[in-house]
Amino acid sequence: MSQVTERTIDDWLAEKRAVFANMPEGRQKVLVSRDIDHVHRNRSFYLSQSEPAAYFCKECGKPERPTYVAEFQVPMVEKQICFACELWNQRLNEHKVKPSVIFNGVLYSIGPEPKKGERCDGLGFGGATWYLKHLASGRLIVTSNLWCGGDIPQEFIDKGMHDTYQSLNPLEGKLELSLVEGKL
Ligand SMILES: [Zn+2]
Repeated sequence: MSQVTERTIDDWLAEKRAVFANMPEGRQKVLVSRDIDHVHRNRSFYLSQSEPAAYFCKECGKPERPTYVAEFQVPMVEKQICFACELWNQRLNEHKVKPSVIFNGVLYSIGPEPKKGERCDGLGFGGATWYLKHLASGRLIVTSNLWCGGDIPQEFIDKGMHDTYQSLNPLEGKLELSLVEGKL
């Protein structure tokens, strides 16, 4: 594994820019552009001589300098992987035990439903109502407390974090709900 030096970090940037140029338009291309921008902006941070030293992630190849809380830093350094790979590995493991709410390649979580008259400002998406259809069972979930967990990197979609739900628009959702409740 090469060390993080001016040359290897610039090689990484050049390689990623070439990948970016050849990618089809879409969210995964946006994610790659964010990575390039992040590494470019933090170039001097990665090249710093002070501890902790930077390394290239063994999983995705991205440079990383692990200045995180111990909960993340310890396993990251041990495995020589970046924060994103550590985070998404944890999420992948959780998903394998209990399938997550995923639609359109984005991870979500569902918080407790608000009580009647409760203020909306502490709720996900400002308390907006979501109608989610479970792909495997067709079961409908209605929630007013949905939280976004971020775009799933392509390699983690490939590792099994596929969509588990479909988001219905409010009209479809209300219709579906009426059917479920036997009102139609
Ligand atoms: Zn990584």
